[in-house]
Amino acid sequence: MTVFEAKYEDLAGRIGILKTRSGNLETPVFFPVINILKDEISIDEIKNIGFKNFITNSYILYKNKYIKDDIHKELNSEDIIIMTDSGAYQILEYGDIGITNYEIVNYQLKIKPDIGVILDLPTGNTNDYENAKITVYETLKRVEEASKIIVKNQDSNIIWVYPIQGGKYLDLVKTSAEGLSKFENIYNMVALGSPTVLLERYMYDTVIDMIYAAKSNIKRGIPFHLFGGGLPHIIPFAVALGVDSFDSASYIIYARDNRYITRTRVYKLEDLEYFPCSCPICSKYTPKDLLEMNEGERTRALAIHNLYTILEEFKATKQAIKEGRLFEYLQEKAYSHPAVYSAFKRLIKYKDYLEKYDPRIRGDPKGLFLFDNNSLHRPEIIRHSRFLERYVQKKDKVSIYCYDKTISDTAYDYIKSIKETITDHNSSDIFIAIPFFGLIPLAVSDSYPLSQFEIPNEIDEDVIADMKTKIVSFLRRKNYQKVELMNCEKLGLHIDSISTSS
Ligand SMILES: [Zn+2]
Repeated sequence: MTVFEAKYEDLAGRIGILKTRSGNLETPVFFPVINILKDEISIDEIKNIGFKNFITNSYILYKNKYIKDDIHKELNSEDIIIMTDSGAYQILEYGDIGITNYEIVNYQLKIKPDIGVILDLPTGNTNDYENAKITVYETLKRVEEASKIIVKNQDSNIIWVYPIQGGKYLDLVKTSAEGLSKFENIYNMVALGSPTVLLERYMYDTVIDMIYAAKSNIKRGIPFHLFGGGLPHIIPFAVALGVDSFDSASYIIYARDNRYITRTRVYKLEDLEYFPCSCPICSKYTPKDLLEMNEGERTRALAIHNLYTILEEFKATKQAIKEGRLFEYLQEKAYSHPAVYSAFKRLIKYKDYLEKYDPRIRGDPKGLFLFDNNSLHRPEIIRHSRFLERYVQKKDKVSIYCYDKTISDTAYDYIKSIKETITDHNSSDIFIAIPFFGLIPLAVSDSYPLSQFEIPNEIDEDVIADMKTKIVSFLRRKNYQKVELMNCEKLGLHIDSISTSS
């Protein structure tokens, strides 16, 4: 059963379609956690905000005998996509909850959500490797056990989730992810467990490591869910690695604690003089109004605002993917908090993985915005370096023209002027030296993105140094008899600083 189709890709992230029995859902997507019994936030409210889906806990429904048959019918929600969790979160909170994997899988088969989860054993935030290992192997055992029930009931058309555990122990996450290969036709979606505590403690970089360890050990085409990932600060970074869906109760948990989520930080309500948001709640009330409300009303209002903010983050992330600007969007986000910056730095450690899945060809290519040495890690720059490594020397002589902003404002104009000036194209290999890229062969300078980019007026010294290193190492690999440098004095690039192999 193919349940997922990618439509647009950027870095290792994607906009896709998740096909469920109640309809299609565009990803990346957020599943708000709803407790149907509590009714703090109703299904109608979720729909009003713009969600077409939610997740609820099948363990709570089972224990309270709240839903007995088809959940869509009983909740009057046939047009909404419902995912049910298994109670694993309760195990994390309260230990043994007195229910078996067998019971909860059979219960979900009865209530027919669109997406179901087996009763895994969450690793949580344990600091004990042996404990973490036990959770991984116990979860694998339950995967095997549930697979027999799922196979017998395949006509139910529920998308079953394969849970990946292991916590911060990346070798265990890898083992857990690899276990899927035996059950690929049974579980059509995977979910990585337990980052909630790490997210609350701002350990975003560890969460990036966990996602990478899981994603890089499963097939690309399987939809990937992150349990408990409800903070807008980290969402686009997870998406860049290929996370397709998220769920969280953070919006309501934070609201109960008077915490107001923005796309870059979390505020205490009493610290806010103004609402930096124009959602229906923030347009109507001031922070002071909310503080004067009774607790129930305030919680509801804050929860609604928090959900609007989360939804907005997903829309912004999708728009960035659509434009091919996800890397730039992450750079922008990175400066919102040192922990987010750490997540960004950790993400670019996996630049080869990002490059591998980043599309080579885009329908509507946009020029690159290049800023500082972080931009050197983007796929297009890495790809150009590889291209230069394969460059075949054609002549004995090389001519290098260094791009100078004082001569032409944009590199595009500079390349154009060089093309017009040069009369003899046959006696040397001709290159343009450009920050970030190093050397661009004049002959291919028209191809994307070699003349479609924007760079700052003042280039950072480390980026200039990187360009010089790229030029020098290129020339050392080649066997040019004569090197001609044009306009390169400002860069401090001299013939005697380049010792060719000859
Ligand atoms: Zn708002």
